[in-house]
This record gives sequence, C-alpha cells and structure tokens, in this order.
Amino acid sequence: MQQEKKYSAEELIGQIKLEMSLRMTTAEYMLWVYPTELYSYEGQQMTLIVPSENAASTLYSNYLGLFLTVVKDLKLPVTDFVFILEKDKENLPKAPQKEEKKEEKVNPFVQKYTFENYVIGLSNRMAVMTAHTVAENPGVNDALLSLNPFYLYGGVGLGKTHLLHAIGNYLFEHNPSLNVIYVSADRLSNEYFSSLNKYNTDKDSYRNFYHKYAECDVLMVDDIQFLQKKGGLQEVFFHIFNDLYQNGKQIILSSDRPPKEINDLEERLRTRFMWGMTTDIGLPEYETRINIIMKKLEGSSATLSEEVICYLAEKVNTNVRELEGALLKVLMYSQLTHKEASIETVKEALKEQTRDAAEQIDSDKIINTVSEYFNIPSSDLIGKKKTKEIVEARMVAVYLICELLNLPLVTIGQIFGGRDHTTIMYSRDKISNLVSTDKNIRRTIEDIKNSLNCR
Ligand code: ADP
Ligand code: MG
Repeated sequence: MQQEKKYSAEELIGQIKLEMSLRMTTAEYMLWVYPTELYSYEGQQMTLIVPSENAASTLYSNYLGLFLTVVKDLKLPVTDFVFILEKDKENLPKAPQKEEKKEEKVNPFVQKYTFENYVIGLSNRMAVMTAHTVAENPGVNDALLSLNPFYLYGGVGLGKTHLLHAIGNYLFEHNPSLNVIYVSADRLSNEYFSSLNKYNTDKDSYRNFYHKYAECDVLMVDDIQFLQKKGGLQEVFFHIFNDLYQNGKQIILSSDRPPKEINDLEERLRTRFMWGMTTDIGLPEYETRINIIMKKLEGSSATLSEEVICYLAEKVNTNVRELEGALLKVLMYSQLTHKEASIETVKEALKEQTRDAAEQIDSDKIINTVSEYFNIPSSDLIGKKKTKEIVEARMVAVYLICELLNLPLVTIGQIFGGRDHTTIMYSRDKISNLVSTDKNIRRTIEDIKNSLNCR
C-alpha cells in the first residue's frame, strides 16, 4: 500500500498544473490552465479563479475531464473542480451535485499525444507510417512483412513516447475492447522486483505480474534499453515476449538505440527484437521544425509572427522537446510582459538558456575541443606550423571563437600566438564561406559545437 501523502493546497494545484501542462498542447495550456489561480480547497473540492466567463465555460466543457483524470492518475485527494470569476468570490456557487458514477473505461494515454498532433517530416516518416499500420492492424503479420515486434529508436526528445501514445490513443478509440498496455522499462522493472519482494506475503503477486503482461493484446515498452539484466527480469521478459508473439499479440518497443547497440541485453532477446520492423526517428529538419511550432500554436489564440517562428526553428535545432520548451518560454514571456513576441523578446526569453551555455565556454575550451576533435595538440593550433591539417584545424578554431565569443579580432590574434587581426578575419571568413558550401565542414562545425554543448 502506498502511503497517503499530505499535501498543501498550493502543492496540490502545482502538481496538477504541471501534469496538465504535460498533457495539453503548450498553447492550450498557456491559454486556459496557466492563468487559473487557487481560491480554496475544501472537502476534496478545489476552487480556482479564472479570468473570464469564456475561460470558465471552456474549462468546464473542455478540460474538466482532464483535470479529473489527472488527479485520479496522480492519486491526489481531489474529487471536484469549480471555476469561478474573481467577482463571484463572495457569492460562491454551490458545488455541482455529483452525477451517478458510470463505470467507464478511462483512457490511460496522454490525450495530446495523438497522430493528429504529430508532425510528419522526412526524419520520422517511416516511423509514423509503421506506427499507423500497427495501430490499424495490431499483431497482424503477412508473410512478406512482419511488423511484430515494432522496434522504434531515436535520440531523446524526438517523439518516440508521443508515437507510442498515439498508437494507444488510436486503439482506445477504434478498438476499445483490446487490452493495450503502455509501460516504461523502468516501471516494468520496478513492478517485477516489487512482485518478487511481496512473494512471502502474497503468493499471487508474481503470477499477477506475469499474467498482466503476457496476456494483454498490445504491449508497448518504452525505453527498453533500461530493461535490467540482473534479477532474472530479462528472462521473464523473454517468456512474456514469446507468449505474446505466439498468440499473435502486438509488441512495440522503443529505445534510444538499435538492438545491436544495447550492451546489457541477452542475445536471445536481441535477436527477437529484430524479428519484426526496426525503424528510426532522426532530428527534424528545418521545415519540420517550423511545422511543429505551427502545430503547437494551432487552435489557440496565441500567435507568433512568421519571423519569430523561423527564428525559433533556426535556433533550436537539438530536439523537439527543447523546441517546445523554448516556445513555451517565449509565449509565457510575452504574456507576462504584455509584449508581442519579436525577435528581441525571443532573444530575451531565451537569454538564460543561451547565457548558461555561453558562460561555460571560453577560448581555451574551444581550442581544447578542436584539438581533441582533430587530434592535434593545442600548442600546434596556436603555434606556427603550417601543414594542411594544422592550418585547417586552426582556422576552424578561429572561426568558432569568432562566432561563439564576442571578442575583438585583435584579442583573438593574441590568443593565436600574436597573429595579425587580418589573418584572423581571413580565417573566419574562409570557414564561414565553406560552412555554406561544404557539407563536411558544416558537419565538423556542428559536431564540435555539440561537444561544446552549444548551438
Ligand atoms: P522521446 O520519447 O523520443 O524522448 P517525446 O515523445 O517525449 O520524445 O517527445 C518530446 C516532445 O516533443 C513531446 O512533447 C512531443 O509531443 C513533441 N514531439 C516530438 N516529435 C514531434 C512531432 N513530430 N510532432 C509534434 N510534436 C512532437
Ligand atoms: Mg520517451
């Protein structure tokens, strides 16, 4: 039994809002939930002050269900929400009578993680197509093409979890009688070990664990790279996998890497993971990033100029999660300051992010990183040697210092053993031109920036 925790009303609403923000589009959240304020919390009823009639009616009609699902999922002691206007504080309406509870199946999947909300681009097209096919025909294999298991991999923040939930949401809507389970490998491990621990007092605990997973219709395990090897978990998972597979049940796995690169994985599981379809998701390209921003703004009153959208899409090119975070910051910033977001406000809003990165970088760090990348001693980078390799690496270092640090050319000349500022300028411009024409150089610069942890 989990211990009932005592929360203050502020803590409660804090947790609820955080969870809501994860389950709604950024724009919806900013528009409707973010501006609500706690008024009271009594007898498990939470009363929130909202800024307008329109907000109250939207919250009641569109989001009350989500509020209730969230408190249920988080097991928080709230059973009802009331939204009131500031001016109504005095004559509070009575809490609406509770309706008879119908036993309804609750959708366990994150509501906003749907196919409709998923932007398709070159980097994820195969993954989305496969996910769609699997959602339409789970567990069905034809002789030529097996989609069981569906193994999806890619870097952090690129939309794997979103896609798994999209499959779940689709099945919940179109195939509600199916027993579809989504679980992270971490959670699976915890459940497994706790079922073993309970064995002394509850002989059925392990059996229940096993049946729950081996007898479902669709099993999705997120971040399978975290499936622990110790304690027999992988062996158990091997049997679960076989049961499901033999019964024509669909297995869907996600990971940050392909099966052959997971170190701590039993060989027989590795081969099984490769039986079906393995697809990767890559970094979204610029156009897709633009479309993602547009999608996140869709259906809200928040707007951004094309210029600002392009600027964001250009600057935040690491992953979609960070792109969303940056967008949220910009929207919040412009809401708080009542300023329409301009390039300037975006810079201001993202300043912390960029300043943090910039603060840790200095010329030494850049030179050392370049030195490591090219495997050339840093003394040679700032020295006089003129072999082709050294000259190229030196120019790259100069270019990066010019670009990342706001230093006078003369100072940079001094860093590089007292070179003339025109030499520095020449190197900078040379690489700068190459970056726009030469893929390899662009790649090199990107790689080094990545190791410097900046964009
Ligand atoms: P991962 O599981 O790969 O680390 P997530 O699925 O958690 O990534 O995605 C991170 C965030 O980015 C989520 O909010 C998700 O909705 C969003 N996201 C990722 N890819 C897309 C996409 N193609 N279209 C719309 N949103 C996306
Ligand atoms: Mg994930």
